[in-house]
Amino acid sequence: MARIISESDPLARQVRLLARRQVLPHAVILTGSGEPLAAARYLSAAMLCRSEGERPCLHCAACRKVAEDIHPDVRVVQDESRKELSVDTVRQLRQDVYIRPNEGARKIYVFADAEQLNERDQNVLLKIVEEGPAYAAFVFCAGSAAELLPTIRSRCVELKAHGDDDAPVSDKTLELCRAFASGALLPVAELLVGWENRRMKREQLQQVLQEAWRVCADALLQQCGGPAAGEEAAALSRALSRPRLQQLTDSLRYYAEECRYNVGPGHVLGALTAQWASLLDGRPT
Ligand SMILES: [Zn+2]
Repeated sequence: MARIISESDPLARQVRLLARRQVLPHAVILTGSGEPLAAARYLSAAMLCRSEGERPCLHCAACRKVAEDIHPDVRVVQDESRKELSVDTVRQLRQDVYIRPNEGARKIYVFADAEQLNERDQNVLLKIVEEGPAYAAFVFCAGSAAELLPTIRSRCVELKAHGDDDAPVSDKTLELCRAFASGALLPVAELLVGWENRRMKREQLQQVLQEAWRVCADALLQQCGGPAAGEEAAALSRALSRPRLQQLTDSLRYYAEECRYNVGPGHVLGALTAQWASLLDGRPT
């Protein structure tokens, strides 16, 4: 199981955007098919990250501690042995919340399973969510938002963890990623020309480019000290310099988007080949 969601998860992008605008909500319900705790760690890292730039950076001390579950200001509340949390757990939390964070700007409570919160617990929590100190943040992991009382829901922003990021990518995507990892023009040009000659459909090309974009984004993340990604991403992160990988990631996203409109696949394939050529022509970095 992933410790933290990958950079290409749509939720990660959403969290980054909220962090950039400095509007990360203090109360969140995490639903969706993905791994809720991996998503909660990402979100917590964004709240506690010490980076001046993009948050979470995933390599500062705060981010790393969150990813390893050892940050003193993130508390995962769960009781694996019971169906419901004990009365004491919730009661104790009501006092704990007023103890200031240890080293971060925030103190985050992650409720690993909203189903463990009965109505009484939720009413206690509602008061804390509403009236607690400004540094306190609450993340409720739930199968569905309906597991929580409407009063709590109305105080929270619901974010969805997608979890389909680990979906296997197609053979064509793997071929493309390997060609890029060669760091040379010819393997990429040959592959793309071959696809054009075989009249690859726009929908298929779009899928391949989206998947390749995801792999590149993971490779980039890995280069920046993020979690180890799959084999193809690892190969790309070894083969390409960071600026080059960054540009490639941007191009793939751009051309995947292009495919949504009524652009001929041949045009996209040609443009991508030219883009790769000019990227390789750039000064080595
Ligand atoms: Zn950080």
